[in-house]
Amino acid sequence: MNTKPGLQVRGDSMKITFYGVRGSIPSPGANTCRYGGNTPCVHIETAGGQDLVLDAGTGIRELGKRLAGKDSMISVLLSHGHWDHIQGYPFFMPIYEPGRLIHVYTTAAENHNQICSLIDQIDGATFPLKAADLPSRSKCITGDLEAEMAGHNIGVRRIAINHPGGGYAYRIEEDGMSCAYITDNELVPPGEVTTPYADWVDFCAGVDVLIHDAQYLDADMPYKHGWGHSLVSQARQLALDAGAGCLVLFHHDPDRTDSELDAIQQDNEVFFSSRRAPLTCYCATEGLRIALAPRLGRRSAITTGRI
Ligand SMILES: [Zn+2]
Ligand SMILES: [Zn+2]
Repeated sequence: MNTKPGLQVRGDSMKITFYGVRGSIPSPGANTCRYGGNTPCVHIETAGGQDLVLDAGTGIRELGKRLAGKDSMISVLLSHGHWDHIQGYPFFMPIYEPGRLIHVYTTAAENHNQICSLIDQIDGATFPLKAADLPSRSKCITGDLEAEMAGHNIGVRRIAINHPGGGYAYRIEEDGMSCAYITDNELVPPGEVTTPYADWVDFCAGVDVLIHDAQYLDADMPYKHGWGHSLVSQARQLALDAGAGCLVLFHHDPDRTDSELDAIQQDNEVFFSSRRAPLTCYCATEGLRIALAPRLGRRSAITTGRI
């Protein structure tokens, strides 16, 4: 897709892979099979060999097969506790591996229901098994996320999303490479604003890869204003304002067909080429992989492909 030969790179790469890109509810079917119908799950394999899992929607099932058998510690960073972001966790193969270390970072330390939403659903009633019977060492971490990750040479910052019920977006940095994961976020919401637009621009400033909620189109408004999701046009503007290297439109509406996403992708190319913006833009697809590699004094090299 966008592989540039001859780049001066050093060190290992950070690999970002998309396993679930759909919002709200799984949406399998003939009209969604190319971009995919699984709900949010993104895997970041750091240059240092850490496995970070962003959200545990139904896409995590396929990721689990790939992580099974490794001996890496898995860190799950949850955006929030809505069903589409947690419902795949009981089918995540590593939780059935004896002794496998899995840290689930909470989204709200003061709210127990949200703290353990991934593990609490494995209760013998909502799911046939109970979490206490799992052989892995799967546990919620309520400590300082930034400090824990710094111990693995990974920089993590988080910021509150504009979304009903609250939650967090994350910016992950390693050796000059960076990725912001911002889903279920309404950049310009009505009423009270948790995080104003200027703060989003600061949070995303210069990021290599910006993954942002783009569930709606202008035609969806004003009916869905206040539902906690952004427009494609707003995500594009944020990428421009923040100087992102690559924008990935994410959390597609369950009713958005493959051909409609193709049309958005064509429009992306027209939009950014006419602005001479130094960035690439993709509608997220299951299986998309973006690899970053650090370059001294320059923006990270960005290559894309598929698993
Ligand atoms: Zn969602
Ligand atoms: Zn949500």
